[in-house]
Amino acid sequence: MRVVHPTPDYPQLLRGADLRVTRPRVAVLGAVHAHPHADTESIIGAVRADLPEVSHQAVYDSLRTLAAAGLVRRIQPAGSVARYEARIGDNHHHLVCRSCGTVVDVDCAVGEAPCLTASDDHGFTIDEAEVVFWGLCPACSPTRS
Ligand SMILES: [Zn+2]
Ligand SMILES: [Zn+2]
Repeated sequence: MRVVHPTPDYPQLLRGADLRVTRPRVAVLGAVHAHPHADTESIIGAVRADLPEVSHQAVYDSLRTLAAAGLVRRIQPAGSVARYEARIGDNHHHLVCRSCGTVVDVDCAVGEAPCLTASDDHGFTIDEAEVVFWGLCPACSPTRS
């Protein structure tokens, strides 16, 4: 049986975050949902498939607004350009290939977001932990058989 993921209602998501519904924002949100971990250039390309006339600046502005509102998450592994994803709120982590830059999601190591519990919080109120696992993906690994 094929699992059908219902398309999120992007205008509704925007309204739920108290954001004005604009065509660039809807298109950018859709592009980030369709292309997890895409960089800005890829998102511009995907958005232009729907809205050929959209400007780079409109896409940059939409990404910044959506990230600030928590509708998309911005990640930027060291040495990489910023990437965006729509999987938010679960504090998942990322595996990054040192060779080709592939980014893969990985859940928190054990249980439910344990990485938000620091061994010593020094009095901080912690709301996010960023863990990046670095290595080589299977395609780039020299030991693959
Ligand atoms: Zn690789
Ligand atoms: Zn991710």
